[in-house]
Amino acid sequence: MSQSLATVAYLGAAILFILSLSGLSNPETSRRGNLFGMIGMALAVLATVFGPSVSTSGIAWIVIALVVGGGIGLYAAKVVKMTQMPELVALMHSLVGLAACIVGFASYIDPTMKYEGAEKIIHEVEIYVGILIGAVTFSGSLIAFGKLAGRIGGKPLLLPARHWLNLIALLVVIWFGREFLAAPDVNAGMLPLIVMTVIALLFGIHMVMAIGGADMPVVVSMLNSYSGWAAAATGFMLSNDLLIVTGALVGSSGAILSYIMCTAMNRNFISVIAGGFGSGGGTPAKKSDAAEPQGEVVPVSAAETSEMLRDAKSVIIVPGYGMAVAQAQHTVYEITKTLREKGVDVRFAIHPVAGRMPGHMNVLLAEAKVPYDIVMEMDEINEDFPDTDVAIVIGANDIVNPSAAEDPSSPIAGMPVLEVWKAKTSIVMKRSMASGYAGVDNPLFYKENNRMLFGDAKKMLDEVLVALKG
Ligand code: NDP
Repeated sequence: MSQSLATVAYLGAAILFILSLSGLSNPETSRRGNLFGMIGMALAVLATVFGPSVSTSGIAWIVIALVVGGGIGLYAAKVVKMTQMPELVALMHSLVGLAACIVGFASYIDPTMKYEGAEKIIHEVEIYVGILIGAVTFSGSLIAFGKLAGRIGGKPLLLPARHWLNLIALLVVIWFGREFLAAPDVNAGMLPLIVMTVIALLFGIHMVMAIGGADMPVVVSMLNSYSGWAAAATGFMLSNDLLIVTGALVGSSGAILSYIMCTAMNRNFISVIAGGFGSGGGTPAKKSDAAEPQGEVVPVSAAETSEMLRDAKSVIIVPGYGMAVAQAQHTVYEITKTLREKGVDVRFAIHPVAGRMPGHMNVLLAEAKVPYDIVMEMDEINEDFPDTDVAIVIGANDIVNPSAAEDPSSPIAGMPVLEVWKAKTSIVMKRSMASGYAGVDNPLFYKENNRMLFGDAKKMLDEVLVALKG
């Protein structure tokens, strides 16, 4: 493939990626957005593999790598459960970081890359910065994976003087950067590069370990952004324009998502960017709090729940992580349909950090074919709870926790939540009194107008549906 054809293909792929992003911003166009992304990526891979920068002798290796990598990806996508999606995404981010590191080292030792003067300095800065971002993304994403999968506790690890440690790490990285650029040859430059990589890896671990459970959405979206910048850095190292554009798209859209998540968590974007996660905000969450009784809870049966729903004029459904675990979204839709047929006004309230990844609930509801026009964002619907007869919470906990609004000492104090307790009656559907991801007890359960429907969300909703139809 000639250089100009490859450039045209890259341009086409870049446009398709932009169309993909704009499509993904709305549930109605998201399928089309996905399709654009897939076509763009296929075009990008083909234009790269058959482009002028790959020699024919190298194609066999690339095909082997494609088959192995594609096979693993296909297998992972097939076996992953919807609830494991956030972990898979975190793992994918870590691979982008790892790739940036490997490409960085490879292009540093590559004997064919001979640069002089300013070009040499620019190339080495690209390598140094690329490996730095890549290593932070790699180790940070692995820790995020561990936290999301529950293999590492959600409790923040707060080392004494952690901000000083971070500052010292930054100064050491800058110092070794100078040494690296001043190194006369590859052998002399390797030591500062390796030292920086180790520090960056430790920084990534430290940064994410210090985050409390409630702040994880910000970390997930920030690592998403970092992975984009790591890819862009790889693009600079390989002089691949499309990788630079794609990386910048992912990096900046991830940064916008981080901003949205920060607003949702009521965190300061600048302090998050500066690495000051959780500082001054929450105290480490205590899981044991959940065991301490704080009053009486009133359990209800599925039949009673269906009666309350049938008698209601307006119902707001608040889905959370438990709906994803129980895979209850299809039954939720059936109930919604039945209630709407009976003239009940049913709407959904989506909290920006519900579930375990941005847009988690929207994806599930779209999968169950819930009409988009009754799915509301938190800001659109939060004021309507006082005029609502029944607010039904399906496997959500932190996002409906009144202590965020009422208790300044709560680890999630200040986080905007869905104010379900303001409805005439709220019904919380979950299996036990256990706390949510942030590990904070929830006073909602003990409110006078709250009822608890204990059990697996899918099983209980099936019973509610049978009672509703009966
Ligand atoms: P939570 O984790 O706060 O609560 C989910 C609740 O679902 C649990 O209390 C659990 O209670 C219940 N549950 C679990 N399985 C079932 C089941 N099979 N049937 C019925 N109930 C079930 O989830 P929320 O959605 O309310 O809040 C999201 C939390 O995750 C926030 O703290 C957010 O910060 C965090 N987070 C969000 C991310 C994002 O990007 N959206 C990323 C990372 C973290 P029980 O065990 O008693 O059933």
